[in-house]
Amino acid sequence: MKLLVTGGAGFIGSHLCEYLVSQGHEVFVLDDLSTGRYENIEHIPGITCIIDSTLNQDIVRDLVREVHAVFHLAATVGVQLVVSQPVQTIINNIRGTETVLQETCRYRRPLLITSTSEVYGKGVREVFHENDDRVIGPTNLTRWGYAASKAVDEFLALAYWKEKRHPVVIVRLFNTVGPRQTGRYGMVIPRFVEQALRNEPLTVYGDGKQTRCFAYVGDVVPALTELLLRGNFYGEVFNLGNSESVSIEALARRVIARTGSSSTIVFVPYDQAYGEGYEDLRHRAPSLEKIHAAIGYQPKTSLDQILDTVIADIRTRLSRRG
Ligand code: UDP
Repeated sequence: MKLLVTGGAGFIGSHLCEYLVSQGHEVFVLDDLSTGRYENIEHIPGITCIIDSTLNQDIVRDLVREVHAVFHLAATVGVQLVVSQPVQTIINNIRGTETVLQETCRYRRPLLITSTSEVYGKGVREVFHENDDRVIGPTNLTRWGYAASKAVDEFLALAYWKEKRHPVVIVRLFNTVGPRQTGRYGMVIPRFVEQALRNEPLTVYGDGKQTRCFAYVGDVVPALTELLLRGNFYGEVFNLGNSESVSIEALARRVIARTGSSSTIVFVPYDQAYGEGYEDLRHRAPSLEKIHAAIGYQPKTSLDQILDTVIADIRTRLSRRG
């Protein structure tokens, strides 16, 4: 099939493109290289990359017409970026998705939209199910603007399905990690690994008792593909991630042990890390019941395997930089 991946030069997008090409598909990428990098995809044979934004409706229309289905990954992501560029975050995420929905609906192209576990908000529970209530913080705390923008994307996509029978699937990604992810926009694992390899202190925010579940990108991309190309999950929302939970302090210790680093750990108050009034989530884990029932999804890669892969990747990157 001919497939379009918006945000295809990003971390998850580039792994998805690699996988789709390995399955014999012809892949087009639309990416404005805001956080993506051309280097992420230049090694993939036969790929066509258009450097432009999903806000450019004419380009989106031309590309959508050419392909059979669309994966929409392009978005402003990463807590650091979201907090420092709130206007761009909200506008990009809402307008970009609106444009992709309009054009895929016009040509009736099946569409998968990647959403985020952030839409659950701060929640009071540890494990989130797709139909759980959402608890979003006040509008003066920037973090929640990102959650709200992605929730609006979901509302709009589901409205397109209900009103126009536009074939769209929504996937809420939980902390996805792997090679090529950068720590520049906040993501904790590449940050810790880079700090450890440089023998610098690992910056644990808050008390380090907050927990997360990290999914390997190599487990995630085949699931995205199944959910869209099987064609029988339209109008549905799925969690996708891993259910192995770890506290951030324990994660830091594991990174130090697995890199053999002499780094120490420093605890950094949230205000210092993200500015005043930042609210972090204590716990976040996905219920994977629905996606397991749908496509038999089960994460295969353990946290230790993930860490070893990321460590090897960042080691190579650092040694190239010299
Ligand atoms: N975090 C940390 N040190 C860092 C970066 C992040 O302790 O240098 C924490 C962050 O506060 C959060 C967790 O690690 O509790 C995961 O952060 P990330 O930004 O990767 O994802 P989030 O789950 O917040 O979207």
